Amino acid sequence: MTRSKWRCDLRTKTKEAVTPATTKTVPPFHWPNQKRAAVSLTFDDARISQVDVGLPIFKKHGARATFYTLPSNIRKRLSGWQQAVADGHEIGNHSVTHPCTGNYPDFRLNALENYTLEMMAKELDEANTQIEQLLGVRPRTFAYPCGLKFVGHGLNVHSYVPLVAQRFTAGRGYLDEAANDPTICDLAQALGTPFDGQEYGPMKQAVDVATADARWVIFVGHDIGPRSHQTTDTAALEALLEYLQDPETGVWLGTVDEIATYLKQRRDK
Ligand SMILES: [Zn+2]
Repeated sequence: MTRSKWRCDLRTKTKEAVTPATTKTVPPFHWPNQKRAAVSLTFDDARISQVDVGLPIFKKHGARATFYTLPSNIRKRLSGWQQAVADGHEIGNHSVTHPCTGNYPDFRLNALENYTLEMMAKELDEANTQIEQLLGVRPRTFAYPCGLKFVGHGLNVHSYVPLVAQRFTAGRGYLDEAANDPTICDLAQALGTPFDGQEYGPMKQAVDVATADARWVIFVGHDIGPRSHQTTDTAALEALLEYLQDPETGVWLGTVDEIATYLKQRRDK
């Protein structure tokens, strides 16, 4: 077979493979109320600074966030987290023991590589039970600890995304490099955009890029305070909140559950 003939065959085959059986018109996607993008602000681990520093900032700006909590950390600031619920923030599930890859030394004794799907199902259900007992709300969305979605290793690796899909309206990842495309994203593994350690400029840019393409940015932070590796900068956060709350920006600032529920209802129609 000559090289040119092989190329010709490939072209023909590719054309057949991509020709749809029927022509279906996909209606254009619209966010509600003429908004041009959606943004969720999320913070993980129920760290103390989220209560002590974050809640007053959100109150001042009339904004709500999604907090992915560990029950053990809720107990360290119980009244603060009760206030978070009263302020209308979403309380999400982040597991009980935060299992993560054993490659991170802190998680060596609680490594996903040594987990089974049964153990992970228990983590998810037990966290929901404990959070509901502590705060009176049952989490509707989940954030994968360390953004990792597997248990086991090698031939015995399993994705635990289906466990999350069974239990929650959305599951959020971490350290992803794009915002969610509302027409295709899997709500059980929604992408999470890093928020910590950034100045206002890159945060605004992530929102503007998403707005140009009608996407949904889910920012992921940890502590709230002076900018550092795992801390979202207070001044940058305040500047971003002002930008997001400006009607001219055209952004729907909603909790993960609110936006995921909207997308799910659209898809179920
Ligand atoms: Zn975490």
